Amino acid sequence: MALLLRAEWVVPISGEPIRDGAVLTEGTDIVAVGPFEAIKKQASGDELLDLGRAIIMPGLVNAHSHVVYTVFRGLEDNMTLFGWLGACILGPSELLSKDDFLWSARLGCLEALRAGITCLADAAPLGRAVARAMSELGLRGIVFKEVFQGEGDVDSVLQAALREVRDIAREGHGLVRAGISPHAPYSNPPAFLKATLELAREEGLPISLHLAETKEELELFLERKGELATIADVLGLKVPRAVGKTPTEYLAKLGALGSDVLLAHCVHLLDQDIKLIADSGSAVAHCPKSNAKLGSGIARIPEMVSAGIKVGLGTDSAA
Ligand SMILES: [Zn+2]
Repeated sequence: MALLLRAEWVVPISGEPIRDGAVLTEGTDIVAVGPFEAIKKQASGDELLDLGRAIIMPGLVNAHSHVVYTVFRGLEDNMTLFGWLGACILGPSELLSKDDFLWSARLGCLEALRAGITCLADAAPLGRAVARAMSELGLRGIVFKEVFQGEGDVDSVLQAALREVRDIAREGHGLVRAGISPHAPYSNPPAFLKATLELAREEGLPISLHLAETKEELELFLERKGELATIADVLGLKVPRAVGKTPTEYLAKLGALGSDVLLAHCVHLLDQDIKLIADSGSAVAHCPKSNAKLGSGIARIPEMVSAGIKVGLGTDSAA
């Protein structure tokens, strides 16, 4: 069934904006784009939907999201990252069932669509729920299964992750591709990070990591001091000891940078970090609203773009 869409502006991205433009569709395919008067000649008799004062353009891409946490929005709006993670994500997560998280993911996907977003790069411990919500609502993208070693042994944690990766692909119904995310350089031991990267590359899975989101992460890696070092010591987390390197240098040494890697945040980068990321071909998901809300800082986007790094925009969690 053919449908002719008309709007005051059509912005095709690959060409100049078109005033009084039209898009002719046939089923799920776009068959013609151009000025309304020209396109309507190809479409005689087809159904016309005139949107009036509107812009028709390709869907937006959200380069870093966590839609399962959408319902946690508003729990606390005056905390920095690590306090907020405990009070607004980890604590409340204990109260929700898998089904609750699925509904939260559906809400996140609906909000994305309302904002014109049609493609997500989402990271979630419950990747299967996100893939299901995305495919139900017609969103496409990548769901990165988030993995933490915790108290488990490397092999059993990664085998469970691989099973969920297969579930993500199945639930995604061709719209969603599975990836893997070992969360951040500070939240998993180096041996686990290395094993996760090896598995991802064996399986051809894209990788995502949070990197250099806070100055505390930089302090932990350079000198093992500051709030994150204290939290790691108090909780007895098996995280890297002071390595005398920035988090980016540490990841580079582990082989965790590359053109198959999407890095979220990258707020606290030194000059050498920007060079390492640029040389590796890793892409960066810039999340300005999240960085502002949590007081994390301002990313050096002009320098990253000048260095040739591909930078996309992300919301981070909508909570
Ligand atoms: Zn994130």
